[in-house]
Amino acid sequence: MSCYRQADVAFERGEGAYIYDVNAKRYLDFNAGIAVSSFGHAHPHLVKALQDQAAKLWHTSNLYRIPHQDRLAERLVANSFADKCFFVNSGVEAIECAIKTARKYFYDQGQPDKNRIITLEGSFHGRSMAAISAAGQEKLVTGFGPLLPGFDRVRPDDLEAMAHAIGPETAAILVEPVLGEGGVLPLSDGYLQGLRALCDQHDLLLICDEIQCGMGRTGKLFAFEWAGITPDIVAAAKGIGGGFPFGACLATEKAASGMTPGSHGTTYGGNPLAMAVGNAVLDLLLAPGFLDHVNEIGTYLKEQLDHFAAQNHNSVELVRGRGLMLGLKLRGLDPRETVATALANGLLVAPAGDNVIRLLPPLIIEKAQVDEAIGLLETTLSAM
Ligand code: PLP
Repeated sequence: MSCYRQADVAFERGEGAYIYDVNAKRYLDFNAGIAVSSFGHAHPHLVKALQDQAAKLWHTSNLYRIPHQDRLAERLVANSFADKCFFVNSGVEAIECAIKTARKYFYDQGQPDKNRIITLEGSFHGRSMAAISAAGQEKLVTGFGPLLPGFDRVRPDDLEAMAHAIGPETAAILVEPVLGEGGVLPLSDGYLQGLRALCDQHDLLLICDEIQCGMGRTGKLFAFEWAGITPDIVAAAKGIGGGFPFGACLATEKAASGMTPGSHGTTYGGNPLAMAVGNAVLDLLLAPGFLDHVNEIGTYLKEQLDHFAAQNHNSVELVRGRGLMLGLKLRGLDPRETVATALANGLLVAPAGDNVIRLLPPLIIEKAQVDEAIGLLETTLSAM
């Protein structure tokens, strides 16, 4: 099927923040597979974890205990708000699990009509029927109806609109703490705190989609931590596997109480290969000082981008984001064309909504790579 607009370039190998095409041309990867390859390409610790596990056992199913799965669940719980964890194979499956978990909670509380979920305009939660119904954007849903019922939408960062949208059938609020596809738009700390308060006041569950902004990308393990709040359910994926495809739905004991044996499942979720890599990713992410590095290099990248934007104010309106999830909002330039020109110049970045290009470099980048990226952005803009 022709679902993707693919650039005419094919990559063969990668090392750290660099990736090489089939003609051995080198590119600086400030996309990281759309916020996935947080430790760059071919990180020796991750390669070894995968190779070791591949030589032992690939798959058994969830009919049996999986030691790496138990260990990863314990570590994710020990390092977060969560008490429970369910592993899946992708981001959208983590969202499906989050939605089912929230609805089942209220069903089991004897409130089956309390099943509506409020989401934000411009948000993105994946491409399943539930996820497109949740986000509701025209470009995601056109042609795929009938959609799933039970979703309402409000403007981001508008607490009054959220309060107004809550009704007796509302079960949960689902938000990305930093909207990714929507244009790298961080929700304010005050707004997230306000959402937590509204959830407490109306007995709702707060679900954070941390699929793009989580797992260290903003400089904390989860982006919601900046606001000093705790959600009830979190969907994680992308960076959690550093490139090995898997995701997780994390929840408090209370929110997960309806998810009992037989209520949900997946053949491959939490398989030994994914879990071995996941534990290795967590070794790196939780290493002392690593998140400090993300904060320091993120601040440096933001400073350099602000400077770049000031010097190119005819084509760059503003810079926004958090940590190593940053966006340049363009003025008078098409993001897709800009991304294509950057690619031709040897820099990988991704387009996003609201006329933004996204910079999602591996979390391991150093100052020299930031400087190189700024130079490549200069070359890109002057070629347009
Ligand atoms: N949620 C967010 C915030 C995302 O950015 C994405 C993917 O871009 C998804 C959900 C869906 O994840 P996946 O493509 O792994 O299904």
